[in-house]
Amino acid sequence: MINIAIDGPSGAGKSTAAKGAAKELGFIYVDTGAMYRAVGVAALQRNIAPDNAAAVAAMLPEIEISLRFEEGEQRVYLNGEDVSKTIRLPEASMAASNVSAVPAVRAFLFDLQKSLAAKNNCIMDGRDIGTVVLPDAQLKIFLTASAEERANRRYKELIERGTPVEYDTLLAEIKQRDYNDSHRAIAPLKPAPDAVLLDSSDLDLAQVIEKITAMAKEIMPDEKA
Ligand code: C5P
Repeated sequence: MINIAIDGPSGAGKSTAAKGAAKELGFIYVDTGAMYRAVGVAALQRNIAPDNAAAVAAMLPEIEISLRFEEGEQRVYLNGEDVSKTIRLPEASMAASNVSAVPAVRAFLFDLQKSLAAKNNCIMDGRDIGTVVLPDAQLKIFLTASAEERANRRYKELIERGTPVEYDTLLAEIKQRDYNDSHRAIAPLKPAPDAVLLDSSDLDLAQVIEKITAMAKEIMPDEKA
């Protein structure tokens, strides 16, 4: 199976780019952030503080997360309930960041991620895919953009959706999540030594997809010109 790992901070455009490249290549797209978000939502539903590691770990046997691919779209199910929309709420973002620091949560999701990669040609995105989950991925990309550019993109997206937000709040949240993700003791966000660094600050989505697709074709024997 061909596995492509895309890691990087929140808002660098990983999921949109990975989804676009997966479609071009005919691969499945696996969004591991969505899995952490689903665990975060499960905690919130039970009134468990997402940073209460012991309580979050104790809840894991009660939850089942699955990704389903319906008409090319990935949907996320938590105990059979479609939570694809709920996991995108701002409180789910912060909850995901908190539960992702719990070792038992990472171990729980690791198996699910590994088995998807073993069975499918896939592009998997997250924070530790190239370093921990798929260290043998044939291609690893670390996609970044400045915090300001990421806040800017998110601001536009939310305003277009009619959600009132403050740019400064978004920027502060992005910086806080970056800090949490790169300073946690377990699986901190960092590029794998053999990852290709791709800065999307001055690139549009089509250009990012094109770069990823071109790199992927390089490593696919049949696709070489
Ligand atoms: O990518 P996304 O913003 O949806 O991820 C939500 C949160 O899940 C991140 O802030 C990060 O803390 C966590 N995460 C992680 N490891 C991954 C994917 C996401 O720790 N592989």
